[in-house]
Amino acid sequence: MKFSDIVGQEYAKRILLRAASIGRLPHAFIFSGTAGTGKKSLAKALAMLLNCSAPLSDGGCGSCRTCKQIIDGNFPDFNIIAPKKDKYRPSKISIDHIRNIYAKLGFAPISKFRVIVIDHAEEMTEEASNAFLRILEEPPPKNIFILNVVEPLNLLPTIVSRCQIIRFYPIPAEKIADWLVKNKGLDRDIAEVISRICEGSLSKALELMEKDFLKKREDWITLFIKLPTFSKKELLSLLEEILKNKDELLDILIVWRGWIRDLIVMKETEDKELLINRDLSHMVEKLANRYILDELVVVMNHIHSAEQAISKNRNVSLVMRKVMMELYHLRTISQ
Ligand SMILES: [Zn+2]
Repeated sequence: MKFSDIVGQEYAKRILLRAASIGRLPHAFIFSGTAGTGKKSLAKALAMLLNCSAPLSDGGCGSCRTCKQIIDGNFPDFNIIAPKKDKYRPSKISIDHIRNIYAKLGFAPISKFRVIVIDHAEEMTEEASNAFLRILEEPPPKNIFILNVVEPLNLLPTIVSRCQIIRFYPIPAEKIADWLVKNKGLDRDIAEVISRICEGSLSKALELMEKDFLKKREDWITLFIKLPTFSKKELLSLLEEILKNKDELLDILIVWRGWIRDLIVMKETEDKELLINRDLSHMVEKLANRYILDELVVVMNHIHSAEQAISKNRNVSLVMRKVMMELYHLRTISQ
């Protein structure tokens, strides 16, 4: 994998390539940014660049023994510690995970640089964080640690101060769309909708692509429009139905939030080019005037908070119930 194979993140690539080329790599990095912006891929590309037997100017050759082992996930000196996902969020990283790192550090790397990645590092328990801090206080040579986090503030300040922070930014929609067309053979129209709705996350885009997303999106938008006309009984059975399919909960909320955002944009600017659901602009245009701007803004913010609460495994059915009630009571101006 070359650096140029990774979508976006020009800043991160430039810093890492430069540090590697002058041989001044810090022993620990924090890669900070939302999920799906390329943190793990860039860690892998760095491990290849550093250990490849014939490196190119922007990464490993991809064909030597070391590169192949790293690609296949069986290079002994490239390790990713990744907590399993527990419903919507990763589970905790325990002291045992850090003990495993200690065990590896007992032996010198067989390669030029051992790269150890801790994915979702903010999930380290206090005990695990303290144990990891002791490693950073006396870092063994020829080891590079990479902590992947959404936000460095969620780590111990004493860990942060010993790492170089590299920010990862949401990937621009047009880059994601181009990538989906080129690498996944997606139709341009579909790629563009997915790229605008995935909020800069390539992994989210790939996930949506797998799920027959466009059809579902239209169904969910139709639900949003019809919801205020439901009876209480219909509303409750819909809620039950939605709660049954937990994998799709967050997708439904993203679609509803995107739809409300489009209604707001249409009311404020009347510019169809700014819409997420540009392919449905005729519907947005027709419906935008039905709603009251302030109410849309309030509901959109509440949906955003609901998404965060669900990602933290808070009381999911209560959170969803509240969202549905708000949509149910969203007032429309009769035409
Ligand atoms: Zn190579």
